[in-house]
Amino acid sequence: MTALPPGSTIGILGGGQLGRMLAMAAAQLGYRCHIYAPPGDNIACEVAAICTIAEYHDLAALKDFAESCDVVTFEFENVPVDPMKSIIGLVPIHPPLKALEVAQDRVVEKEFVRKLGGKTAAFAVARTEIEVEDAVAAVGTPAILKTIRMGYDGKGQVRVSAQSELASAWRRAGGQPLIAEAMVRFEAEFSIILVRGTDGEIRYWDSSRNVHEDGILATSCLPSGPLIESQQVAARKMAGDVADALDYVGVFTAEFFASAEGPLFNEIAPRVHNSGHWTIEGAETSQFENHIRAICGLPLGSTATIADRVEMQNLIGDDGDRWVQLLGDPAANVHLYGKAEARAGRKIGHVTRLYR
Ligand code: AMP
Repeated sequence: MTALPPGSTIGILGGGQLGRMLAMAAAQLGYRCHIYAPPGDNIACEVAAICTIAEYHDLAALKDFAESCDVVTFEFENVPVDPMKSIIGLVPIHPPLKALEVAQDRVVEKEFVRKLGGKTAAFAVARTEIEVEDAVAAVGTPAILKTIRMGYDGKGQVRVSAQSELASAWRRAGGQPLIAEAMVRFEAEFSIILVRGTDGEIRYWDSSRNVHEDGILATSCLPSGPLIESQQVAARKMAGDVADALDYVGVFTAEFFASAEGPLFNEIAPRVHNSGHWTIEGAETSQFENHIRAICGLPLGSTATIADRVEMQNLIGDDGDRWVQLLGDPAANVHLYGKAEARAGRKIGHVTRLYR
């Protein structure tokens, strides 16, 4: 692919904070962004040249969007794939739609990774309410039930510690097809974030130790400690194999549990990731800039960490009320996303601190 010259237009599907930070990185490299998103709090539009507010199924709006762009990418993995097929051939799309298809279905995703030799928690599928009991029996208790599609940040998840608790589990998990997973006794959680270029070159950032609270990422810290550092090698191989198999271009994330049996794959995000926000200040090239570099056919930047210690903390719900106090701390790099409403559980910003 020849490199897209500055002044070209990058189309981004999705209008949230990831799109906002991608558009800011794109602007630094001289590109314009066109955001396409359904009606909502589309905070990416505030920093983009053009914004189309339309449903993902609006084929006419999608076609106009595609024709106005030199390359199209995603900041949200649950963009419906079928309508996106209508723009294939009109504009290059990175990462490929196949990556979205795999990431949108927890069963397809786990089977894809297993076929490539990756390890996951034991799982079983319940496509109807009647199958829930057998699925949980197959993986044993405690188990975690997750909707097969459209789950993120712990939404659509129900934990069951005994078969007797199953009565309302189907309804509580959203009354739709579920995957039952064995509860992993992990020591820690981490993600592999990599960037893959159009020529297949892969670069990896260091893996942070990720701590989740109520299913939502709370903090990402480096160094991640000896256990994650030792499991990072095998996990990188797994994530790199998945990216190669998908012929992926852009930033790709795979989340892992560091367990006594080695790294267990949890899920893929075919996009930049919250656990990589620390790279804005903490790495030579951020995940956002390298995603833009990859999809525009530019040389990839160095992913090296530039501090001895890095801490990224998410600002969730009313954490954002502390913004003036946070800005008073010279060590704090404060990012606020400009969301209209700070609902409980909503990510409204993050803070990164570097220690040398
Ligand atoms: P997910 O939506 O799959 O990323 O899950 C959100 C969080 O729930 C994970 O980061 C873990 O902290 C926890 N979790 C998910 N699946 C499991 C599992 N099989 N065993 C233990 N904890 C899990």
